[in-house]
Amino acid sequence: MDEQISGRSGLMAWHGSTRRARLPKDWPRIRRRILRRDGHVCQTRFSDGRLCGREATDVDHIVAGDDHSDGNLRALCSWCHARKSASEGGRAAALTRVRTERPKQTHPALED
Ligand SMILES: [Zn+2]
Repeated sequence: MDEQISGRSGLMAWHGSTRRARLPKDWPRIRRRILRRDGHVCQTRFSDGRLCGREATDVDHIVAGDDHSDGNLRALCSWCHARKSASEGGRAAALTRVRTERPKQTHPALED
């Protein structure tokens, strides 16, 4: 139980850590643009096809890394963003397995 709690607080600390160092200088501008593009609505698509639809406050890299182009960015609510960050840590394989069951997905490399 204790481990679970410390793991969750680790998610919060993420915001100020390594990932930010990879962001470009004009990230605040890019971020604003993506939020506006996506209507400040969280773009997470749940496994049942529903859109999250919460108010988006974060901009996520669909594929983690240095691609800051519009096509690799999308608006997320803080909840989905934290959840995704956690899954990138080690549950990505399990998520991929679920996703491949959905044939309408277009480009596996762009999957969340
Ligand atoms: Zn969301």
